[in-house]
Amino acid sequence: MNTAESAALTLVLKERAWEPALDREHSDLVLLNTCSVRATAEQRVLGRLALYEALRKKPAAHPFTLIVTGCMASRLGEKLRERFSVVDYVMGTSARALFPRILDAIESGQRFVNDDEKPAFAFSSSHLEEGQFRAFVPIMHGCNNFCAYCIVPYVRGPEVSRSPASIMDEIHLLAEKGVREITLLGQNVNSYCWGNGDNTFVEFPELLERIARETEQGPIRWIRFLSSHPKDLSSRAIAVMAAHPTFCRHIHLCVQHGSNAILAAMNRRYTRERYLELVAELRSAMPDITFSTDILIGFPGETESDLEQTLELMDSTRFLYAYMYHYNPREGTAAFELPNRIPESIKRERLARVIALQKQHTVELLQSRRGKQVKALVEGVSRRNADEFIGRTEHDEMVVMPGRQARFGSFVELTLSSLKGNTFRAKEILCYD
Ligand code: SF4
Repeated sequence: MNTAESAALTLVLKERAWEPALDREHSDLVLLNTCSVRATAEQRVLGRLALYEALRKKPAAHPFTLIVTGCMASRLGEKLRERFSVVDYVMGTSARALFPRILDAIESGQRFVNDDEKPAFAFSSSHLEEGQFRAFVPIMHGCNNFCAYCIVPYVRGPEVSRSPASIMDEIHLLAEKGVREITLLGQNVNSYCWGNGDNTFVEFPELLERIARETEQGPIRWIRFLSSHPKDLSSRAIAVMAAHPTFCRHIHLCVQHGSNAILAAMNRRYTRERYLELVAELRSAMPDITFSTDILIGFPGETESDLEQTLELMDSTRFLYAYMYHYNPREGTAAFELPNRIPESIKRERLARVIALQKQHTVELLQSRRGKQVKALVEGVSRRNADEFIGRTEHDEMVVMPGRQARFGSFVELTLSSLKGNTFRAKEILCYD
């Protein structure tokens, strides 16, 4: 989400002829797009602000304007300006629409004063670099779920869905620019619901159906979506996915934990049984689908048996990869007040076991794919060898291929002949379009 939003802010700047600064010391504008999900991410921003504060105080320093945006700007608001005099503007996630007006003021040497009571949230359009074939398309924003550990609903606000017409306009524009793969984005995409005022609603499955139909004959061949909440992923959405091969056979389905007691304490509102049922339903509809997930270990009250249940769920599902963390209390969330915090050393030891098991599953799954003939989207030149290109399969596997045969942005058929680390190698490209 942040990557997509940073790109959209960059697009606004580029359209107004701003250029990237050569270095920090010579920039006219510093824009910090922040994340509040983890305390460490916020610590990094505070460190960066201290650095800019020192820079501004230097004699003969180049004058610059500093804007803080993103979730941390929403969470801390004017407190940031009180703590760091270097902060000129704080632009929360719902105030993005103000960005061009702030730039107007900066460009004319004025100070921007916001006289709107509550600026409306604006969905940002995708920003594409030259030769980019994958794009993010925001379809909804915010979250109503209030998982006990998560700050997102407080900083991003309630769910707001974008109109299907605006989503389709952006997708058609991306297709014209030669994009081949899109990822529909939202904090909780499955709860997408747009009402047009006359009591008719477009929900996530209908939106998927419409996007699949309207992109059928065009250059966009692959569609993904992110992130999926198990509570809201419906059988209708799965049926639409299965009916259209344009939906990549990979899904990121956040499980967070494998114990019902911990899932309830986290306020996730599904059980491990329901999660496993969903996995079975997806596998039955699309037998070759791969899964990735998020796992949060060390939530207050977690027992050894809770951890064992998480390891068992991982064994049953066999994720291709996972983002694994241990819990850190976030002030302002429901879990912050919970008793029975798990000591740091135990959290680390449990997380290490989860990571070790995931590594084993990743290797086993990738090994089992050797020799398979697959389709990949060619993304660019390999960082290690300029004669080789790199691509990604629809299952979200990386593959290196001989460069002389491939073109960026083309789909190629190849055989996953060998595996080094988590990256496949293909000896030759069988065909491409
Ligand atoms: S679903 Fe839960 S974890 Fe995801 S953004 Fe919403 S509150 Fe946070």
